[in-house]
Amino acid sequence: MPSAARTEATDFSAPLPPFKMITRPCTHYDDRPDPADISLLVIHNISLPPATFNTPYIDDFFGGRLDCNAHPYFARLAGVRVSAHCVIFRDGRIWQYVPFAKRAWHAGLSLFDGRDKCNDFSIGIELEGADDVPFTAAQYQALSRLCHWLLSQYPTLAPERILGHSDIAPGRKTDPGPAFNWTYFRQLLAEQQSAPPAAGEPA
Ligand SMILES: [Zn+2]
Repeated sequence: MPSAARTEATDFSAPLPPFKMITRPCTHYDDRPDPADISLLVIHNISLPPATFNTPYIDDFFGGRLDCNAHPYFARLAGVRVSAHCVIFRDGRIWQYVPFAKRAWHAGLSLFDGRDKCNDFSIGIELEGADDVPFTAAQYQALSRLCHWLLSQYPTLAPERILGHSDIAPGRKTDPGPAFNWTYFRQLLAEQQSAPPAAGEPA
């Protein structure tokens, strides 16, 4: 169960990525049972209202201040406390809500490799989008850069441990959906993985 609301400021201490990632206020997280076990990365999509982009509502929702009267769809979200580690917006902006060492509340009932409670050991990344709407080039670029960096930080992750929400909650969840181009994403990620490190980066 989610823990009581937190009051202290979130500690977004290192590691910090070599690209811009803005941290945002969010209290929807708690401790991982084993902070050393970060071995799955889950890709989602979200848009509020559905299929409507560039609204402030995802940020409000994860920040616990969504006005549930702002749109009829939001009535069902009253009292719902969820989060993801990061959201990648349509323009490729990456906003971080939960430190990677902490447990974000994104996967719900889920199963991977015989283990349930995937939030315990996964990183959740939301793409602002909808199942049947193509994601933007900027989002693929940002996602592959972020995943590449996370793979370098967490040796327990691996490209084959990057999956969609629908893969770990089949029949219950459909995101990131058929519009998400896995082939293209995996190709971009492989290019990042094989590129020589940039100047100033450790080998
Ligand atoms: Zn999802």
